[in-house]
Amino acid sequence: MGNLEELFTSVRSQFPALTQLVHGKKLVYLDSGATTLKPQSVIDRISHFYSYETSNVHRGAHYLGDVATGHFEAARQKVADFLGASQSEEIIFARGTTEGVNLVANSWGLSNLKAGDEILITVMEHHGNIVPWQMVAEKVGAKVVAADIHDNGELNLEDFKSKLSAKTKLVAFTASSNVLGTNTDVKLLTRLAHEAGAKVLVDGAQIVSQLPVNVQDMDCDFFVFSAHKLFGPFGFGAVYGKKAILDQMPPYQGGGSMISKVTIEKTTFNDVPTRFEAGTPHVEGAVGLHAALDFVEKIGLDKIHAYEMEILKSATEKLLAIPDVKIFGTSSNKGAILSFNLKGAHHSDVAQILDQEGVAVRAGHHCTQPLMARLGVPGTVRASFSVYNNHEDIDALVKAVAKAREMLL
Ligand code: PLP
Repeated sequence: MGNLEELFTSVRSQFPALTQLVHGKKLVYLDSGATTLKPQSVIDRISHFYSYETSNVHRGAHYLGDVATGHFEAARQKVADFLGASQSEEIIFARGTTEGVNLVANSWGLSNLKAGDEILITVMEHHGNIVPWQMVAEKVGAKVVAADIHDNGELNLEDFKSKLSAKTKLVAFTASSNVLGTNTDVKLLTRLAHEAGAKVLVDGAQIVSQLPVNVQDMDCDFFVFSAHKLFGPFGFGAVYGKKAILDQMPPYQGGGSMISKVTIEKTTFNDVPTRFEAGTPHVEGAVGLHAALDFVEKIGLDKIHAYEMEILKSATEKLLAIPDVKIFGTSSNKGAILSFNLKGAHHSDVAQILDQEGVAVRAGHHCTQPLMARLGVPGTVRASFSVYNNHEDIDALVKAVAKAREMLL
């Protein structure tokens, strides 16, 4: 661990949020599954953009307009490279994962789904990858079906296969569960879905910060993620779509930029990806995401993954040593997320005590109510780890959970 420890000590020093006290205690931030903290390089890049480069994009009759447009499109290329897409035209900028799913559901979904069709998801999906499909299904008379998990939090492959049929037109699943941590076998599930004749959308919200992604290798048709879970800004993210499919899709929203020609009677639309980006875009979101990807690439996702696995292993062992702790999601292939409960204590009470100790975790249903129903609990406490966490953070978590146990049980 020696070298990794040193590297990540220096990484940690790049996060100004971690220099503050909360409730008089050192902040131990274990809520990266909800959003990651931002490194100084990303903060500085966005500040520089607002200070010196503010201008609208794609309107350009002047120097700054060209500068901003150049940065915006460079970010698109950067995202394409990061995801292994074959061209930057396959990258649509959106508000994040949720808007990405809504875009695909409304554009591809409304024009391709019909009564009797099925959309296959999994029971561990985030509401962002459930509700948009239900809304579209209701409009066209299609049905949302969910594959089950095993008790250890892994996808039940037999159940998944049994629910794939000629009726299945789209399979939408997470690459990594925000509650259980489980990483799914994206390549396998995609192949099975394609063999059944369905298109595939991968929810990449929790995978992009922990493992390299290659959409061509995965062969998925759509892939969505949010910048804010990847050290980047809020309100920004991207949708990858295979160019041939995007070319056939109608616009999601109407307005400026997405048009080719407008008359009062009729509008013709721009090419992909601009067709899907109505109105002034979140330019500093793109610029900030570019800086965030530079940050990640400078460390290396291989090192990030190795370090997070060390942290997860140690945190799991230490937490399980506390009596009455039950962990949800114990797959050997999982991200650095620990969802747990103290038997007999309410998750919110536990989180409140942890907060008083400076330990920031999330408690509740984590926008996965069907998963909570499957697990038979109203909610869990979730500690999620990232590049800036260290062994002291684990010890602080364990000490605070032991204290919560003493106080609540
Ligand atoms: N999918 C997963 C697996 C998530 O963890 C999240 C956020 O927690 C989302 C989707 C929704 O992401 P956003 O709120 O950034 O759109």
